[in-house]
Amino acid sequence: MARYIGGVCRQCRRIGEKLFLKGDRCLTPKCAVERDRRGMGPGMRSGRRRKVSERGVQLREKQKARYSYGVLEKQFRRYFAAAERRSGMTGQNLMQILETRMDNVVYRMGFADSRNQARQLVNHGHFDLNGRKTDIASALVKSGDTVSVREKSKGLEYFKVRAEDLAAKNVPTWLSVDIEKLSGRVLSLPTREDIDTRVNEQIIVEYYSR
Ligand code: SF4
Repeated sequence: MARYIGGVCRQCRRIGEKLFLKGDRCLTPKCAVERDRRGMGPGMRSGRRRKVSERGVQLREKQKARYSYGVLEKQFRRYFAAAERRSGMTGQNLMQILETRMDNVVYRMGFADSRNQARQLVNHGHFDLNGRKTDIASALVKSGDTVSVREKSKGLEYFKVRAEDLAAKNVPTWLSVDIEKLSGRVLSLPTREDIDTRVNEQIIVEYYSR
């Protein structure tokens, strides 16, 4: 599966907002967006801001969602087409599809600090989906599915340390986690209220409706 291999902080800087793509580092003063705000970033321009067109606003919102979930343009378009085919509101369907990606679920369950890290863990074959090894980060989970750390990965130092930190993680209500078993369940599909990603999906619908 193709993926973005450039610097992730660059994506936040392009959007001009923190997208929290690097886990704990995003909460430190080392964050590139924080540094920009303090006028310390590389290539800082003058404070003048260009007026952004309506199309520019729509494009930015779409890119923000894409960067947040680490999805390339082609895949994102496919998700949008699938969201249109589902019944209900297209924008909310799109958010639900993005949120039910395997890498996002691993991240939300607290097994990784960022979606990028979760994607790497999934790609390296450390997780089962319903008891079967799944190394496809874009696999979509359904209500009732189980996502668990594979038996042979549980002995890795990474997961031993993770297990100790899991209790402190905030798991969204549509998921549950069994810390002992290093396993989680999808209790229901997430509604828009369950998803804290700061994206205006209606603007994305407008972007694709032109
Ligand atoms: Fe974005 Fe995190 Fe990098 Fe800050 S540290 S620019 S929030 S990825």
